[in-house]
Amino acid sequence: MLPRTRASSSDGRATARPWRHARDGAMFAAAMENDELDCLTCGACCRTGHDGRILVPAQDLVRWRAIGRDDLCAQLQPGHFGELAFATRDDGACVHLGTDASPHACRIYEDRGTTCREFERGSWQCREFRRDLGVDR
Ligand code: SF4
Ligand code: SF4
Repeated sequence: MLPRTRASSSDGRATARPWRHARDGAMFAAAMENDELDCLTCGACCRTGHDGRILVPAQDLVRWRAIGRDDLCAQLQPGHFGELAFATRDDGACVHLGTDASPHACRIYEDRGTTCREFERGSWQCREFRRDLGVDR
């Protein structure tokens, strides 16, 4: 899986407001369209890790150990390109997906991986995941 970006929020999902930076009508329209994508009714990009696609770079392990989250280092599996990746459930979803409040929210949002932080909501990958998972028809 390629990079992802999500801005932090109290509810654990994307709250970026890209239209603040839009300089023309086309960008504004695209930004508004992306903002209509609700991660909390989706979670598609977190359900694609069955074969080690949601990569975890070494810097994440260093960061987690520094904050006492060694448990996160233990919930990994071999990933693509010889790297590590988030472990997954039998259905291919990341083991950290789902909270009491929402099956689409991340339980470790504040400490989530770099790949998750950099994934871009509204990107072609995001839209492809949404389509493949049936979120968008
Ligand atoms: S696929 Fe896109 S809309 Fe769905 S949770 Fe991921 S970033 Fe959010
Ligand atoms: S750590 Fe959180 S944001 Fe990243 S793939 Fe797993 S559930 Fe999704």
